[in-house]
Amino acid sequence: MKGIGISPGIGIGKIFVYKPQEVKVLKRNIEDIELEINRLDNGISKASKEIDELYKLTLANVGKVEAEIFTAHKMILEDPELYAAIKEKISSEKVNSEWAVKEVSEYFISLFEDIEDEYLKARSADIKDVSTRLLRILLGLEVMDLLSINERSIIVAEDLTPSDTAQLKIEIIEGIVTELGGRTSHTAIMARNLSIPAIAGVKDILGKVNHGDFMIIDGFTGKLILNPSVEEIKEYEERKLKLEEEKKILQTLKGERSLSKDGHLVEISGNIGTPKDIDHVLENGGEGVGLYRTEFLYMDRDRLPSEEEQFEAYKIVAEKLGKRPLIIRTLDVGGDKELPYLDLPKEMNLFLGYRAIRLCLDRKDIFRTQLRAILRASAFGNVKIMFPMISSIQEIRDVKVIVEEVKEELRNEKIPFNENLELGIMVEVPAVAIQSREFAKEVDFFSIGTNDLIQYTLAVDRGNQNIAHLYNLYHPAVLNLIKMTIDNGHREGIWVGMCGEAASDEKLIPLFLGMGLDEFSMSASSILKARYIIRNTSKEEISSHIEKILSLPTAEDVEKYLSQLSPKINLN
Ligand code: PEP
Ligand code: MG
Repeated sequence: MKGIGISPGIGIGKIFVYKPQEVKVLKRNIEDIELEINRLDNGISKASKEIDELYKLTLANVGKVEAEIFTAHKMILEDPELYAAIKEKISSEKVNSEWAVKEVSEYFISLFEDIEDEYLKARSADIKDVSTRLLRILLGLEVMDLLSINERSIIVAEDLTPSDTAQLKIEIIEGIVTELGGRTSHTAIMARNLSIPAIAGVKDILGKVNHGDFMIIDGFTGKLILNPSVEEIKEYEERKLKLEEEKKILQTLKGERSLSKDGHLVEISGNIGTPKDIDHVLENGGEGVGLYRTEFLYMDRDRLPSEEEQFEAYKIVAEKLGKRPLIIRTLDVGGDKELPYLDLPKEMNLFLGYRAIRLCLDRKDIFRTQLRAILRASAFGNVKIMFPMISSIQEIRDVKVIVEEVKEELRNEKIPFNENLELGIMVEVPAVAIQSREFAKEVDFFSIGTNDLIQYTLAVDRGNQNIAHLYNLYHPAVLNLIKMTIDNGHREGIWVGMCGEAASDEKLIPLFLGMGLDEFSMSASSILKARYIIRNTSKEEISSHIEKILSLPTAEDVEKYLSQLSPKINLN
């Protein structure tokens, strides 16, 4: 079996099939009402313990904001009105407690669903969650929470949501395999941030494996071996060991600077999606955060995060980083990253539509709330703001007017923030790379977003598996745009970084160093390897190859040429 390797590493372990459970409830007539109410009470007390446990684990693993959902669940479980209605149904209709729970919760769910108020409407999802938990317990069904995994396992699922991945016990998760998704899907980004080997796009895997089967996954190549032979297990265990040795060598570079062989200094930072990821970046020697994808704060929930919630999340990271830079990117949703509660229009061309800065400039209420939260957090660290999907000079001018207005508001309210905070843009639309000289006059920095820059330059949807072979990091057109962006940024005296996946590509790092890229931002797990490559490459020497590389006709030619330039780790 094969899929797309989305997070490097080898995983060996038992399969944990993760399928949201179907709960079927039948109506039964009962005689002993008291006994039935006892069953109900026992079920509620078990559910209550489960919710407490989930709260604690999420608080420890993820954070307070995400854990709060379980406080809401507890309140629903203990709601006197709901409880009285269920009890009443059991006694008056002499039915089993499962049936009563199902009927009563369905009634309340439909009540809430009809309410106009978005917030109350969303409560119906919480009631559904809580009642499903209670029904599962009453029916004696097995727990399917990812948090219940307690041995070395490989998770197999259709896909994982950000809140699923947030609940993973990293130490014992050997790997993740999903039917959907690709290299730049958010499951992929999360898996890389957490250094969990992962494979996506494995068609029908759920139909082919059983809970408890044994499996090996190779996150480098996307290869899966179901129920491997003894020889195969031995071979992969040896490879895993070698990787661990390599990791040990790399660990020695943790406190070192990212200095090239000929003394040119660059910065290697981490990309994060949630405040929790920052620990991983620091453990791996990250020199800052080059991209905080704030959209995770907005996803997988039922309403917009408040200014306070956002402020808390940004402040935690800013404080942990201290003087080191923290680049917070404003909301990048729309298109394929949906926010159901915003009721965004359905679009024909997801990636060319109403997303990121386009949405923020239209929904200024959302944008201003986020800017206030980021600016307030800037009083606690070295915060910079970055805007995604910019495609015209007018947009950046409009953005700057709003930033100024929000700053003025904070000054009037005597709320502290960093007056000199830097503003930058993602260079991920080819128009901006081509016009980068003009853009550089408007902002303090650039960060090249190669994930989107490649998709827009090559007209290849980054998530479409049918054309995945056309999505190529080494395409000479893309590399020429990157060179143009770096040169133009430097001509206007601003620094240029990169936070797309290409920044951690082992063959491309020497080339970008040669081009003069100032900052490389990537998943935490790639940082030390990137530092090793920088420290074993001479900028001067690579510079002499650039003209030749950029004039090669095909991506394959480029990749082959670069293969000879990238330093390999010597394990002996
Ligand atoms: C990019 O486009 O390269 C990028 C870093 O942003 P995202 O992957 O979040 O679109
Ligand atoms: Mg992007």
